[in-house]
Amino acid sequence: MTGSLWQFPGGLVLPGHKKRSTQRPIQKMPLTKLLVLPLQQHIGTAAVPIVEVGDSVLKGQCIARAEGHVSVSLHAPSSGIITAIEEQPVPHPSGLSAPCITIETDGEDRWIEREPITNFRDCSAHELRQRIRDAGIVGLGGAGFPSFIKLNPGIHHTAEMLLINGAECEPYISCDDMLMRERADGILDGIEIMLFALHAKRCVLAIEDNKPEAIAAMRLALSKRPSLSQMTVVVVPTRYPTGGEKQLIQIVTGKQVPTNKLPIDIGIICHNPGTAYAVGRAILHGEPLISRVVTVTGTHVAQPGNVETLFGTPIKDLLAFCETQRQSGEPFIQGGPMMGYSLTGDELPVTKTANCILVGIEDVASSSQPLPCIRCGDCAAACPASLLPQQLYWYSRSKEFDKTREYNLFDCIECGCCDYVCPSKIPLVSYFRFAKTEIMNQEREHQKADLARERHESRLARLAREQQEKEERQRQRKAALAASKAAQAKQDKAAQAEPNDSIAEEKA
Ligand code: SF4
Ligand code: SF4
Repeated sequence: MTGSLWQFPGGLVLPGHKKRSTQRPIQKMPLTKLLVLPLQQHIGTAAVPIVEVGDSVLKGQCIARAEGHVSVSLHAPSSGIITAIEEQPVPHPSGLSAPCITIETDGEDRWIEREPITNFRDCSAHELRQRIRDAGIVGLGGAGFPSFIKLNPGIHHTAEMLLINGAECEPYISCDDMLMRERADGILDGIEIMLFALHAKRCVLAIEDNKPEAIAAMRLALSKRPSLSQMTVVVVPTRYPTGGEKQLIQIVTGKQVPTNKLPIDIGIICHNPGTAYAVGRAILHGEPLISRVVTVTGTHVAQPGNVETLFGTPIKDLLAFCETQRQSGEPFIQGGPMMGYSLTGDELPVTKTANCILVGIEDVASSSQPLPCIRCGDCAAACPASLLPQQLYWYSRSKEFDKTREYNLFDCIECGCCDYVCPSKIPLVSYFRFAKTEIMNQEREHQKADLARERHESRLARLAREQQEKEERQRQRKAALAASKAAQAKQDKAAQAEPNDSIAEEKA
């Protein structure tokens, strides 16, 4: 334990390379002629277009609505004309294309009429969550999970603590750092709204000790806000991956989130400072999420820094804005060197999850040829989730997926610490991602097979029921017929008996 803090196992102290991108204030990316907006920039179901080619749109206008429970809306980042709704390449490790809406901007940047909420305390938590969903807000730390869902603890849970994850532990990335330095008040606005929606008793903002300017700025802003008396700024040691949700919870509270459980299961909800800022803008200013701060850095970037960029802006224009010397075809990374993924095309657009574009890495990754595992155990010592990466590697490689589950594969946060320390340079995380994808595919196939079996069984049951009902109807018809025949026979018999009676009467 460090002071009133705890530690997580493993982890690494890495060269930060953050100064490179924190030497100048947040810049504003100029408006580009085309904005390409993937319908899915979040975890969950893609948004559904509500505009057509040829439509004029205003800045902030909803152009695709959320579909299903886990989804958020998408908005026009600037005014212009919709010129295409079609598949286009999107930034994703798969390199595949996905449906996108293209806007040709008109240069006027005209806003739609905004509807801010002046006193959010007059709203219910449900109304605030709905606003946040309609504003298209997702976790801006890089994962892109719809934020309104994480602001609803549900009837079975209570949010004891809102934990704002300002650790930003991955090398090179500094967008949260700069946002905290420059927009501390805006972040606190969002935190107040989140606390109100969650009915949380406590809020902790955790920042790594390599960000003294951000710590000072947030503490100063907090000191002027008596309405946030339940909030504290906590300084945590710089160690990768402190920004992992489970790792940060362990450092701040000493509690561990159990396997297959969520932070809310132990009364904690985590959000990113950028997300809090977006919530404040959406509720208090009526602005949907149409831009974000992106770190553009690396050895090939002559003017590294943090740039507020509209979604849909071509990455090549952003790189040009930062005077990047990238050779044609040379890969670059979206995200950081540990958890990011390579992109090959710079025609791709900036999306909600693009926290960093990294062109040229100094000393973090190595791409040398992998050698056999020598069972040194270094990967296990570095693992912050207390896993056995070498075992997971063997079982992933041999496709023994049941075994990978036994060894808690899904607790792996893909932090890359094991890759980094492995003397044999085995791409362990690639194996783990492969195994997770295979398991999820198998589960989907099982679910499909179960659904098909259930449908088949319910069809058989329906046919049997219909046959039974048919037989019952036939039986009833036969019975009715027999009853009617019997009644007729009785009538006939009675009719035959009548003349005899008359004769008898006559005789009498
Ligand atoms: S660090 Fe690499 S070589 Fe060592 S046990 Fe792990 S996988 Fe094997
Ligand atoms: S990538 Fe997974 S297995 Fe490797 S160190 Fe990180 S959590 Fe552990």
